[in-house]
Amino acid sequence: MNVFFSHVAKRGFSTSNFNNAKHSCKVLVVGGGTGGCATAAKFSKILKKNELIILEPSENHYYQPLFTLIGGGISSLSDARKNTKEVLPKNAVWLKDSAAEFNPQSNSVTTQNGDTIEYEFLLVATGLQTDYDKIPGLVAGLNSDTGVCSNYSAKYVEGTYRALQKFENGNAIFTFPNSPVKCPGAPQKICYITDHFLRKVGKRDKANVIYNTSLPVIFGVKKYADALWKVCEERNINVNLRTNLIEVRPDKREAVFQNLDKPEQVTTFEYSMLHVTPPMSTPPALRTCRSLTNESGFVDVDKSTLQSTKFSNVFAIGDCSSSPNSKTAAAAAAQCQVVFKNMKSVMDGKTPVSAYDGYASCPLVTGYSTCILAEFDYNLAPLETFPFNQGRELWSMYLMKKMLMPPLYWNLMLNGWWNGPALVRNLLHLRFPQN
Ligand SMILES: Cc1cc2nc3c(=O)[nH]c(=O)nc-3n(C[C@H](O)[C@H](O)[C@H](O)COP(=O)(O)OP(=O)(O)OC[C@H]3O[C@@H](n4cnc5c(N)ncnc54)[C@H](O)[C@@H]3O)c2cc1C
Repeated sequence: MNVFFSHVAKRGFSTSNFNNAKHSCKVLVVGGGTGGCATAAKFSKILKKNELIILEPSENHYYQPLFTLIGGGISSLSDARKNTKEVLPKNAVWLKDSAAEFNPQSNSVTTQNGDTIEYEFLLVATGLQTDYDKIPGLVAGLNSDTGVCSNYSAKYVEGTYRALQKFENGNAIFTFPNSPVKCPGAPQKICYITDHFLRKVGKRDKANVIYNTSLPVIFGVKKYADALWKVCEERNINVNLRTNLIEVRPDKREAVFQNLDKPEQVTTFEYSMLHVTPPMSTPPALRTCRSLTNESGFVDVDKSTLQSTKFSNVFAIGDCSSSPNSKTAAAAAAQCQVVFKNMKSVMDGKTPVSAYDGYASCPLVTGYSTCILAEFDYNLAPLETFPFNQGRELWSMYLMKKMLMPPLYWNLMLNGWWNGPALVRNLLHLRFPQN
């Protein structure tokens, strides 16, 4: 067996070609998506190249917030995709492999290829995986041309606009699963875009637009929920709460839903278009490491410091962490500075001092030119950046989502320069205090 101990950094971006190799580093980042890449970029400025390893299996990095616009035919998949090699910090080692086993007791991770990585500090940033196969018939539906689509995967997202264009009449149904999800606003954004699209092409009067959500509310923050209920009423969108998709029958174009409050109540809907937000979970390697995770499989962290509750040298960022914020890239942006500062403190023998307030934002796109920019904290209290009421459908916020946020993500956030809008908010609100 070819087991040896080495720093593999000399080859920069090269991936490990050795089976059962043993690596070591000061900081190991598992997952090079939004949160992992942004925080690794910060560490790459203070560590030597061979001190920072990023474990990430994907060849491509996606700016997932753009998926909503791709589904609506507004942006293209190539706008949302870059090669992972291009976005990860140059001053770090990328191992193109995935974590198969976390061993926090021995400060090591075993990879899918059988390598071992020993670390001094670990940042877990594996995000959430999409579990399309948990709903019988769904994968078959997505892979056939029967009106089933989903914005939640790079594989399927382009099919949404095709389904929209093919729609003639009948039910257009949008779902929200009975599991934690990333960007809880996205399942309904595509519903509003569809409504607007059908109006533009003169088919809206032939369509019955239905939003079936497992949640007991349309949105968790009252201010924005009130605004969204108004949008649904004005546009004749039928909202069914506590209604969970349990089966798709693509051959008959039927979707089966269960009432979560009365499980015996099961209803079958016919559909012409069915947009599914799949159930989601953390990756198995994480879920099965019970010493690191809570009962739901999320990395158990202090919600303020984002430090593991059990291992002081372990932190988590983004969708895989147990911090009870809305899982968004915007939240990861606000978290990355906190995680960086706190990990650095622990490295210096101090205690973590920086605190995350639960900030998350959700640009609720309500059509081809409007958006309600929801921003809020752990208390579900609005935490708005701009000195005007953001609880309205605004063209300016749509432009920001479409034009400003993608370059901000690629150029600032992934290079470790964007920590969310707190600074801008403070500046604007000093001049224009909010009532
Ligand atoms: C349709 C859609 C719309 C969205 N809209 C918005 C929006 O408008 N605004 C917003 O702020 N957010 C939005 N989001 C959410 C946002 O994209 C995520 O919250 C954000 O990407 C989370 O970052 P992360 O680093 O936790 O996870 P990710 O960015 O998903 O990265 C996780 C990484 O971990 C890697 N990984 C997984 N398993 C392993 C393993 N075992 N070992 C090593 N690596 C592993 C993956 O390959 C991936 O690269 C949207 C998401 C979707 C899907």
